[in-house]
Amino acid sequence: MNRDEFVRVVTQLVHGTDNVYVPSYPVCVECKLNGTVCRYDEGDYCLGPIALAGCGAPCPADGIPCEACRGMVEDANQKSIEKVMMEHGGLSEKRAKEKTRMFTANFRSDA
Ligand code: SF4
Ligand code: SF4
Repeated sequence: MNRDEFVRVVTQLVHGTDNVYVPSYPVCVECKLNGTVCRYDEGDYCLGPIALAGCGAPCPADGIPCEACRGMVEDANQKSIEKVMMEHGGLSEKRAKEKTRMFTANFRSDA
């Protein structure tokens, strides 16, 4: 959680909001809005396409992959992102599977 999100959530709670807003789109949206060079263009991997946004995509902006620490978007296609990470991100199948399980094991339908 960054400063802006903290202020927004606390403000919503103080005003008695029942449902605190959490974006439903992936980190890639925020990354593109930031104008960040995609990790895949650098030969790296990234979980941004399936990662739940709201953080402002600071990791790709700092030149490191998104690890989906906030969880996955609804209906995330884990198998597809594993394939992308293997074919374009230089990861072995084992490493790609480990990456999609690191913060999101409870979301997987095939875990
Ligand atoms: S760096 Fe990651 S989050 Fe950013 S556009 Fe590329 S895949 Fe998406
Ligand atoms: S790992 Fe991904 S979701 Fe977590 S803070 Fe970094 S960019 Fe955001």
